[in-house]
Amino acid sequence: MKLSVDIIQRQAKMRAHTATHLLHYGLEKLLWSTKQAWSLVDNDLLRFDFSCKDPISAWDLQMLESTINSWIQHGVTVNTNEMSMDEAKETWAKAFFEDKYGDTVRVVSIAWSVDDDLDLHSVELCGGIHVGNTSDIWAFKIIEHSAVAAWIRRISAVTWTKVAQEAHSYESRLHSLAQRLDCQPKQLEEKIEKILGDLAHLQADHASLQGKIICTHLDEFHQECELPSAWSARWKGCVLNISWTDLEHHSFKEVVNAAKWKRTQRNRILYTNEGNFAIYTWTWDLSAKDFAKQQGLKWGGSDQFVQGKDEKIKEVV
Ligand SMILES: [Zn+2]
Repeated sequence: MKLSVDIIQRQAKMRAHTATHLLHYGLEKLLWSTKQAWSLVDNDLLRFDFSCKDPISAWDLQMLESTINSWIQHGVTVNTNEMSMDEAKETWAKAFFEDKYGDTVRVVSIAWSVDDDLDLHSVELCGGIHVGNTSDIWAFKIIEHSAVAAWIRRISAVTWTKVAQEAHSYESRLHSLAQRLDCQPKQLEEKIEKILGDLAHLQADHASLQGKIICTHLDEFHQECELPSAWSARWKGCVLNISWTDLEHHSFKEVVNAAKWKRTQRNRILYTNEGNFAIYTWTWDLSAKDFAKQQGLKWGGSDQFVQGKDEKIKEVV
């Protein structure tokens, strides 16, 4: 019993290993120049890390996958030959020549030539186990493409029946997603578009409601406001020390935006104890900019509206 399990696992590793050689060659065709950085071969599962600066596009990944599947479907013989290192170098076998190899090396070659697009000429120095023919792999599916370090990217893929398992798992995820959204799997795109549209509307409504709530707070504060002594008496305005207990979870930026919207009603200085401030003027002969300059505040903005962060604002008001 143990022996048969071992054989099953050995065959699963053989399929993944030969598929790794096909992937390596496919990537060289696609990227022109790349180098293997690390590779893992497991039961019908492989991970291949290689040098590559930019992500590979979804289209290129699909083409790579379908090219590898063509090589698999056309049943190309996998040849293994032992030879001297010098002979191996003449075959242009891919190898880590910085690694130590013995006098005799094993060369695994998979070659097939039909047209330029599907041309296959994989030759690698390799001591691992392989299938005798690419058709033994049955199918190949990329399940991950990601960056693992600067200039190093990873492709993970499955072979044989794991391809079907992967498809089933995607299918059941799609079905459960469709069920949650109360539609058929083929209606998912349409449904998601609608949900995103509704969400955008709700967010816009929410923002306008937030603004109104803040404005109500600002109105309540009007009565308690006093003019700053530094301001001319002709300024009809108010100073608000924004207290977060009054405005709860609203940010200073939200308050500033809401008050800006109400600018036509009052001149205002809004500030916090941390030194955030905003100054608005609505009468055109009054300049928020000039006031900030006179008081020596660090500010940015326009004639009628300035804002900044300066502890000095507390002395000014
Ligand atoms: Zn190998």
